[in-house]
Amino acid sequence: MSRVLVLNSGSSSLRYRLFDGAEVLAKGLVQRIGESGGDAADHGEALRRLMDELDLTGLAAVGHRVVHGGERFTTATVVDDAVLSAIEELIPLAPLHNPAALTGLRVARRLLPDVPQVAVFDTSFHSTIPPEGALWAIDREVAAKWGIRRYGFHGTSHAYVSRETARLLGKPAGETNVITLHLGNGASAAAVRGGRSVATSMGLTPLPGLVMGTRSGDVDPSLIFHLHREAGMPIDEIEDLLTRRSGMAGLAGDNDLRSVEERCLAGDPEATLAIDVYCRRIREYTGSYLAVLGRVDAITFTGGVGENSRTIRARALAGLEALGISIDPERNARNERVISPDGSPIAVCAVPTEEELEIASEARKAIGSEG
Ligand code: ADP
Repeated sequence: MSRVLVLNSGSSSLRYRLFDGAEVLAKGLVQRIGESGGDAADHGEALRRLMDELDLTGLAAVGHRVVHGGERFTTATVVDDAVLSAIEELIPLAPLHNPAALTGLRVARRLLPDVPQVAVFDTSFHSTIPPEGALWAIDREVAAKWGIRRYGFHGTSHAYVSRETARLLGKPAGETNVITLHLGNGASAAAVRGGRSVATSMGLTPLPGLVMGTRSGDVDPSLIFHLHREAGMPIDEIEDLLTRRSGMAGLAGDNDLRSVEERCLAGDPEATLAIDVYCRRIREYTGSYLAVLGRVDAITFTGGVGENSRTIRARALAGLEALGISIDPERNARNERVISPDGSPIAVCAVPTEEELEIASEARKAIGSEG
């Protein structure tokens, strides 16, 4: 019973991966669900198709990626009716993501009633952030009543790559301090002390922190009032501006980091400035987390950008030799796992993330079988 099916349900997609231990037996993506000409009429049909195609005998669990677990879900949780209602109550905090996960959970429960369904939350890994790192300085009653605090996201990725970094360094994870930089379409930084998250750059939602493909990352919240009052923009339009038309899309007119980077290398000033803003933000968070952690063993890049872009890695951490941080250009160009020179006080690493594998292992832990 070591097989685990991992499902990542989007509003019109279903990404799946079937594991036997750490081995991937099958993977794929059902797209444009419910759209004309799409792969399936609804999530039920998509999952039924998977059940026909995949050999699910001996399935120990289905692990579902759920974006927001709020304050309640500090660990992966076997799903029952009460858990489903609790995930439903969190919809206002993740209106785009939690409804899709709920659909996937309901369908999988109906079609695989004898298999435990486990919800694995993007937020859980960050539940160890201490109150001084999770609270903002606003009225405490308002914050408590409305659940306003830093939750953080990309938790499965930060957990996996920080552990993998400890393994690379040959140190126990419980004694290793890592700054993890997950740079994909979404992007976030985390400070991990001895395997536990103590700081992260995303917040109530996945909007703040680093500059992303289409999300702004940190801004002065007053710009919302300013655009509303002075420019007459409705609140929904400002939300759309900050979440879909900002980040690299806003600065350089393109959310794809690789093409912005190509323009930058060709000398395009707009693309160069966008890359400078992007790297400067990474540098600011890295410096901040050096101070939060006090002692740092490694800084680890991951995500599509972090795993592949030597330019971003080199620019983001350039000139920090006095802090014990340097990058070996050849190791960096070869995308090696450790890209700092041997003997550096702080290792710099590039580690491919494995979010689905982490979800599978969290699901196994939740049902009490680590196999
Ligand atoms: P998601 O967050 O959707 O999982 P990924 O982690 O795959 O996305 O990251 C996508 C981003 O990675 C895109 O902006 C893409 O341009 C960038 N990327 C992928 N390969 C490279 C590369 N070789 N150089 C620079 N950027 C890259």
